[in-house]
Amino acid sequence: MSNKERVYNFSAGPSMLPLEVMEEAAKDMVNYKGCGMSVMEMSHRSKDFASIIETAEADLRELMNIPANYKVMFLQGGGSTQFAMVPLNLFRKSMKADYIVSGAWAKKAAAEAKRFGTVNVLASSEDTVFDHIPVPDPATYTKDADYFYICQNNTIYGSRYTWLPETGDVPLVSDMSSCILSEQVDVSKFGLIFAGAQKNIGPAGVTIVIMREDLIGFAPESCPTMLNYKTHADANSLYNTPPCFAIYVAGLTFQWLKANGGVPAMEARNKEKAAMLYKAIDESKLFRCPVAEKDRSLMNVVFVTGNGDLDKKFVADAKAAGLVNLGGHRSVGGMRASIYNAMPKAGVEKLIAFMEQFEKENL
Ligand SMILES: *Cc1c(COP(=O)(O)O)cnc(C)c1O
Repeated sequence: MSNKERVYNFSAGPSMLPLEVMEEAAKDMVNYKGCGMSVMEMSHRSKDFASIIETAEADLRELMNIPANYKVMFLQGGGSTQFAMVPLNLFRKSMKADYIVSGAWAKKAAAEAKRFGTVNVLASSEDTVFDHIPVPDPATYTKDADYFYICQNNTIYGSRYTWLPETGDVPLVSDMSSCILSEQVDVSKFGLIFAGAQKNIGPAGVTIVIMREDLIGFAPESCPTMLNYKTHADANSLYNTPPCFAIYVAGLTFQWLKANGGVPAMEARNKEKAAMLYKAIDESKLFRCPVAEKDRSLMNVVFVTGNGDLDKKFVADAKAAGLVNLGGHRSVGGMRASIYNAMPKAGVEKLIAFMEQFEKENL
């Protein structure tokens, strides 16, 4: 298998994975480390799989400096199931929660939470098509809220938080689906972090939840067993069959991250890649980025020409040049280059060169 046959894939998710990770998985595909079977075929109760899931957790803990009083869970149902699990498990006293609506995923999460309690939307940037992270007045925070919810990187609109709300004793919940492991975070500032794996970690099918232990165990009696974090925390993610193969590949990505300088090195590289691309957009006469400069995402770079037909031509021509999946989300159009950890700098350089060429030919 050669790198030459592969394209630069700018998909927002599922997205590009490190080639080394897939080659390692391919090498062991039908016979995992001499055990005579694939990871897909082995019992989740086997010694081999125990070692896979335990190593994956240990590596993630090391990469993110996860404190000992946090549980790490490998769940199913994607980020979207977390939109319900969070309120189901965290509403417990006032039955009130604060939400900042910075994009479509946060909006969906808030709508889901409304089924279970009172949702206070403290701020929203929907009226300007989520072109910035809205900043609520701290005086409006609900003092006795059961939790405070943010979506830290807005995959569709290309914005990210560069600050965190000071919520005091109110647990902060963050959807990090599209930014986990892209830059350093202080896990101790959060009550709960979740992330679907298919953006920056591995194949679809596993969702990572990092949860402070003292918040576990307060779901109501009516909470379905599988939606209760306590079920999975107590069973070390082995209450039922977990997504074994997805966890295995995620573990390989964690090893790849460790071998490549960990999160600090990824952060430096991600900032460099994003800065190069935003600079090219800002200096261009054809392209522009609709997102407020201070809130621009490091992972999902959104840009437009202002002409829908030209945007479509760009996406098609780029595809022909081996730069694929550059179309914006179906709800917004335009272009989006998702440049997660696995996207090498060379891919961003090739995109910039293509943009310059396209501008010359189409302006
Ligand atoms: C993709 C995404 C989701 C939804 O994830 P699914 O796994 O498809 O349910 C939620 N939040 C964010 C920020 C995302 O990027």
